[in-house]
Amino acid sequence: MSQRLAIAGTIVVLLAYVRLAQSQTNGTPAPSSAPQLTHFSLDNLDLKADPCVDFYQYACGGWMASHPIPEDQVWWDTISALQDRNESTLRDIAEKSAPADPKRDVTHQKIGDYYAACMDEASADAAGIKPIEAELQRISAIKSRPDLAAELGHLHRMLYLLVQGNIFPSVADPGSKEPLFGFYSYQDYLDATKVVAFVDQGGLGLPDRDYYLRDDKDSVELRQKYVNHVHNMLALLKIDSDPERASRRVMDIEMALARSWMDPVTRRDRTNMNNRYSRESLQQLMPNFDWTKFLAAVAAPPSEPYLVATPEFLRTVNSLLGSVSLDDWKTYLRWNLLRASAGLLSRSFVTENFAFYGKALTGAKEDGPRWKRCVWATDRDLQDALGRVFVEESFHEDDKQHVLQIVKEVEAAFDGVIHNADWLSPDTRTLALAKLHAVTNRVGYPERWRDYSTLDIARGNWAANVFRSSEYELARQLDHIGKPPDRNEWGITVTTLDAYNNPRQNSLTLSAGWLAAPLFDRSADDSINFGSLGSLAGHEVTHGFDSIGRKYDASGNLREWWTAEDAQRFAERGKCLVDQYSSYVAVDDVKLNGELTLPENIADGAGARLAYLAFQNRANSSLPAGKLTDGFTPEQRFFLSFALFYCGNITPEVLKMAASGDSHSTLKHRVNGVVSNMPEFKEAFHCKAGQPMVRENACRVW
Ligand SMILES: [Zn+2]
Repeated sequence: MSQRLAIAGTIVVLLAYVRLAQSQTNGTPAPSSAPQLTHFSLDNLDLKADPCVDFYQYACGGWMASHPIPEDQVWWDTISALQDRNESTLRDIAEKSAPADPKRDVTHQKIGDYYAACMDEASADAAGIKPIEAELQRISAIKSRPDLAAELGHLHRMLYLLVQGNIFPSVADPGSKEPLFGFYSYQDYLDATKVVAFVDQGGLGLPDRDYYLRDDKDSVELRQKYVNHVHNMLALLKIDSDPERASRRVMDIEMALARSWMDPVTRRDRTNMNNRYSRESLQQLMPNFDWTKFLAAVAAPPSEPYLVATPEFLRTVNSLLGSVSLDDWKTYLRWNLLRASAGLLSRSFVTENFAFYGKALTGAKEDGPRWKRCVWATDRDLQDALGRVFVEESFHEDDKQHVLQIVKEVEAAFDGVIHNADWLSPDTRTLALAKLHAVTNRVGYPERWRDYSTLDIARGNWAANVFRSSEYELARQLDHIGKPPDRNEWGITVTTLDAYNNPRQNSLTLSAGWLAAPLFDRSADDSINFGSLGSLAGHEVTHGFDSIGRKYDASGNLREWWTAEDAQRFAERGKCLVDQYSSYVAVDDVKLNGELTLPENIADGAGARLAYLAFQNRANSSLPAGKLTDGFTPEQRFFLSFALFYCGNITPEVLKMAASGDSHSTLKHRVNGVVSNMPEFKEAFHCKAGQPMVRENACRVW
């Protein structure tokens, strides 16, 4: 599961979705010169603040004051400049590939033609709803429940990439964005050598179930805006004779689905999602759904077993299939088609889509330029083609070696921490060390690039390219079913600003796209690189040993390899963090959910500590102790660099969204929550007992 440090996987998916769905009011090219990337600067600080009272304000106050959120953004942090740089680089690649030069190689032809088709705004406007007309006719032609199942499978194929943003969907958290339910291939929880079919909860147009179930004033208002939005979109389509009624029926269906979604905290324990069904028992679970038709339409090989994340959810789907009329299901499918493909249609759809998913939902004030949307769509649909050129043009092999070295030193520090964990029994400790030693570190880019030779990308008709890409990618994914997992497979594009730990592979992955300042700079000193990149590496490796990851063994099987006593002590150490973070306010009167964010908080705390230990190990052998730079010791600069990574401004709408569905804590608490548990911080900044950044009951899992 994707675990971007600064922006949560869930939020990335949402923002990517918004970004890709945003309208294109600005067709003029923006200057494509790459912005300057900087790491540490005194200007970021607020020296009037007291680091022992509010370290986040001290380390980030200057940056936050001088970096208001741009009008077309909802989240602006120190990583955003890196995002800008990557967008510029990708844009240069796409624009250079775009002219129809017969001498282009096949990679540049696909990139260039895809991008050129996407940038052709006039054709998209002239086409109106033509790109989805055939699909609308298929939906209108549904005459029976078997037809409905077949059309659902077809929609899954067409919309697969569109609903994912630019994040690879393994098991989306808190649920899938697919129509009605999610259907993927996934590594079997109990047998890491096998890929099986996975059915997940889904079917909602709002981010997660809380958006349907909360009854505060803002939530009620937002739901009304959502119903209005569905109404407006269906009215633009002019198929439903009573769009007002139709929009309410869509809401009724989604409300019923949301009520049976498993909550995100329960999903954190993957044993709750490991529900195993044979083909026959899957049919018995949903007698009203024609699985044969669906599986044929989606073109899935047979699976043994079928994993079902939320049986209760599928029971609800089944009962809705019995009670909701076929006409209402057609409306629901039309809405799902529109929701996913609005960005491909003419301006009126794009504008209405942004009015809800951009403005109302996330607080964005205006829309981004079309070229950005086209860059990210190219990255999503041709990820390894664009990524390969990106790596060739902008990634240095030396950086890869430097980063790998830091990762290894942080892992060596973890080795020492596990060795010294006297709360673990010798048996669990031995297995934990074996798991750590088996971790695969993947830095920069995959060993083998995906081959797109059989994917047809044509110069005209962007929407057709998108649908073909989706079908191609879902077919590629489902083809894994019944086979061993592809260990070379990456869950993110190499240009994604993300890193993640996959406990099912026992691997960690750091993408080339974000191995630059402020995360990493080869020319910076150790205090800077260990504070940022070192903490990230520590964070990711710890995910294999957090409250979710610890349940997977060294080979990636979900099984309990801890003794009951050790598991109990682990839970007690985690409980300390649950209480700590539950006391933090995210925005207004909304508090953080300490249970939901526990795995990330474990990783944040251990990540900084492991990086600090590794930094000390290196500093002991190479850096003169006590040397001042800009008036700060190396230890102080380590913590300032750690914090800089999280400096950011976020709209209240997104903060609220994050508090309900994001598995990460808010930026401020990711800094203050960590340093206030660290005696090393207290010492570095000479803080005193009783000050806010010195917690009396300091929590530490690792
Ligand atoms: Zn994480």
